[in-house]
Amino acid sequence: TNHQSNRHVAAAVHSFGKVPLGIKRKGLRIVVTGGAGFVGSHLVDRLIARGDSVIVVDNFFTGRKENVMHHFGNPRFELIRHDVVEPLLLEVDQIYHLACPASPVHYKFNPVKTIKTNVVGTLNMLGLAKRVGARFLLTSTSEVYGDPLQHPQKETYWGNVNPIGVRSCYDEGKRTAETLTMDYHRGAGVEVRIARIFNTYGPRMCLDDGRVVSNFVAQALRKEPMTVYGDGKQTRSFQYVSDLVEGLMRLMEGEHVGPFNLGNPGEFTMLELAKVVQETIDPDATIEYRPNTEDDPHKRKPDISRAKELLGWEPKVDLRKGLPLMVSDFRQRIFGDHKEGS
Ligand code: NAD
Ligand code: UDP
Ligand code: UDP
Repeated sequence: TNHQSNRHVAAAVHSFGKVPLGIKRKGLRIVVTGGAGFVGSHLVDRLIARGDSVIVVDNFFTGRKENVMHHFGNPRFELIRHDVVEPLLLEVDQIYHLACPASPVHYKFNPVKTIKTNVVGTLNMLGLAKRVGARFLLTSTSEVYGDPLQHPQKETYWGNVNPIGVRSCYDEGKRTAETLTMDYHRGAGVEVRIARIFNTYGPRMCLDDGRVVSNFVAQALRKEPMTVYGDGKQTRSFQYVSDLVEGLMRLMEGEHVGPFNLGNPGEFTMLELAKVVQETIDPDATIEYRPNTEDDPHKRKPDISRAKELLGWEPKVDLRKGLPLMVSDFRQRIFGDHKEGS
């Protein structure tokens, strides 16, 4: 039935006709895989606002209809429930390939499925890009650097990744996805872009996805202790979602393949993050120590000089400015009050 409905959709999409050269920048037809998820839905908002036609392809593993519902009824918006592990026929100009669970809790839930999504799913979307001559952007991850021996991490660093650990389905999956992307570029001439995304937060994150920012914010709002794993001295660098979306769009529109680090170089220990959450939500919020998870990277901070120089991009929203924007969305979703949000 998947194939049946794909043919149906392909026919519908095909009726847009080919966009003549020259006006290529106006009214592009764009697929966003994983577009019902956290990052994808914010990207879709920007593309729709710019005047493009957007097809979201999502299997709703971690995505939610609520994230894109405000576009229902817009003739430039389509939503297809589809698993990228299955082939898909569409006629489009650009493919933003985001489909993949991003939170460790979600990607460890069914590790083999995570690998299939990263490998077979990416292969299918590259096959699609090759067939229709679309430009393809892969959202890779800072996890390709593993537990890094270089700090901060530059794109030239090859990483320190455990191939047989509990995070490997994601880390190695994304590394293979990068390899596939470069091989379709070199071998089939597909126009490709690779982004290596560092920890990103903002409205519409899953409330209980186990990532540190969503955990601390939800816990502080619910008056529960914030759970610090390990000694809390490990670091991460947190990027607000609007900065990431701007970076992804500049990368797609620009001339350079990458890979490009997209992240905010502001580095925090988990204890420092807990403090910022305390200051933002509740000065009486407490913390509670828990054992850390296996293979947890000790530190992570992007070197973004390449993106600065070649994309003219750098993040604008620091943690103390971005966190309150996420808190109001979480407050609304947890307590269900009817204030305007996200
Ligand atoms: P998310 O879990 O909110 O979004 C992922 C989306 O992909 C969801 O809507 C999910 O339903 C969909 N999906 C998953 N498997 C699929 C499949 N097989 N077929 C179709 N759809 C599928 O996560 P996010 O934070 O929005 O992440 C988006 C992308 O960015 C991911 O590729 C992730 O690896 C990458 N990334 C995110 C971060 C971050 O901090 N958020 C960091 C590094 C990389
Ligand atoms: N594919 C797809 N949509 C397309 C074209 C290809 O899903 O529009 C899939 C196809 O089913 C295959 C993968 O992408 O599994 C790779 O396609 P490619 O043409 O590169 O390789 P081949 O089909 O020759 O293995
Ligand atoms: N972490 C934590 N408390 C939590 C969830 C996570 O201290 O409730 C830690 C985790 O051990 C890791 C860091 O926060 O060191 C970032 O974890 P997250 O799952 O958000 O992202 P990733 O490990 O993929 O960077």
